[in-house]
Amino acid sequence: MPETKAISHTLPLSRRAFVASSALSALAIGAATQARASDPHHRRLTHTDDFDYAVTRSDEEWRAMLTQDEYDIMRRGNTEFPKSSPLWNEQRNGLYHCKGCDLEAYDARWKVPLDKGWVFFTHSQTNAVLTGIDGPVAEYGNAMGDSTIAHVEVHCRRCGCHLGHLLPVDGHQVHCINGAALTFEAAAA
Ligand SMILES: [Zn+2]
Repeated sequence: MPETKAISHTLPLSRRAFVASSALSALAIGAATQARASDPHHRRLTHTDDFDYAVTRSDEEWRAMLTQDEYDIMRRGNTEFPKSSPLWNEQRNGLYHCKGCDLEAYDARWKVPLDKGWVFFTHSQTNAVLTGIDGPVAEYGNAMGDSTIAHVEVHCRRCGCHLGHLLPVDGHQVHCINGAALTFEAAAA
């Protein structure tokens, strides 16, 4: 599989740069040791904050529309196993929507094609996502080498579902998104 593809506006992020990123390496470790849905210390704002989201559902409704894995990721902030969603390697043009409310969250033209197993973008669609403070999450390590600094969590501004994180990689901030939290709509050929 190609590690990169020619997109003129894509930031010069190499796989080597990603491997060298302490943040992402630590994230991989975190994903590999997943299964923390019942961990009371692994708390997210996504379903406990009081932000006035445009789309709201009861916990029962979320559970009814999502698989267990999707629920744990989108409503509890878990991170999917690398390459568990095929969207990490999706290379077609098109739009990525929040699975929780169908909001257009990311455009494929901002996708960073890397083989780490999650879905990376340089940008979200304008006004599509909000951020939270995720942490400290010990298993993720810390991007700044300071255990007191938490990671930036990313969630949908319309329904509050957890999508992923902002991570500094090779000097650039990128969105590291769970494919399970997205649906993909390919552009018309
Ligand atoms: Zn949403």
